[in-house]
Amino acid sequence: MKTILVLHTGGTIAMEEDRETGVVKQQQQNPLMHYSPDLLGHVKLLVEDVFHLPSPHITPREMQTLQLLIDERARQQHLDGVVITHGTDTLEETAYFLELTLQTDIPVVLTGAMRSSNELGSDGLYNFLSAVKVASSEEAKNKGVLVVLNDEIHCATNVTKTHTSNVATFQSPQYGPIGIVTKRSVVFHQALLRRERYRISQAAKRVLLLKAHAGMDDMLLGAAEQLPLDGLVIEALGQGNLPPATVPALQRLLQRGVPIVIVSRCFNGIAQDVYSYEGGGKQLKELGVIFTNGLSGQKARLKLLVALEAAADVSEVARMFS
Ligand code: ASP
Repeated sequence: MKTILVLHTGGTIAMEEDRETGVVKQQQQNPLMHYSPDLLGHVKLLVEDVFHLPSPHITPREMQTLQLLIDERARQQHLDGVVITHGTDTLEETAYFLELTLQTDIPVVLTGAMRSSNELGSDGLYNFLSAVKVASSEEAKNKGVLVVLNDEIHCATNVTKTHTSNVATFQSPQYGPIGIVTKRSVVFHQALLRRERYRISQAAKRVLLLKAHAGMDDMLLGAAEQLPLDGLVIEALGQGNLPPATVPALQRLLQRGVPIVIVSRCFNGIAQDVYSYEGGGKQLKELGVIFTNGLSGQKARLKLLVALEAAADVSEVARMFS
């Protein structure tokens, strides 16, 4: 018998559609609360309703609450795995935060739904069942935090929500899913080669995420200089380049000791210091900006948030991204 801890946090998987207006709204009680998957006779579920939040209301504070709860429960009792139900809008961010900060090695699987509990073709119960199957599978051990929806298993580091409404919204651009869920089994075919783990006691730093565009000037960066900023992430253009008008403000922020991380707004590939023109990656790197290994902007922001808590100084922060 496998023991799986289920943590509900809210999201569409816990909501229902109003028959008259068509709006999707929260329910008093999570419809999955008392669901016991008969199909999985060998699994015992320990269920906790942790939050009732749509995922745009989730912050690093809730992410850290989940991390502390999972690590504590895994220390206190025997658990074979954990399933977290979560709104899909920020699911990849909670998954990645947990990937970076969880200390336990038991499988932790996040799932959600694109259609609420009473909608035609509702995918919540099915995804939940798939997540329980994965969390109780022997092969899911030591694969990091996983995201399971629509019969696919993705790793937290690469997965992203790619569609506003399609049930096949979760994809891992460039890398693909690391496994699939079939009617009778859970099959893995690849795994992350490199994993990172940090121990932090809070996640309270102020890290801003900006997106570059043609003609970007120093208006927002100039405003950022006035803020009590601990770090900045920019989704830069192409291989990691910025319009030249942004450079003086970036230089001043760097001189102030604010770490600046550059990712690409392209969702495939890795940002690098290739171009030497004004605002090009080579110049940015020489100024001291940090380039990352293919993370999305929202995940690089979380990593910087965690690195700022875990590192002693800015050069250690930079090493964590190399
Ligand atoms: N807006 C919803 C949320 O993230 C979407 C979902 O759960 O699918 O809470």
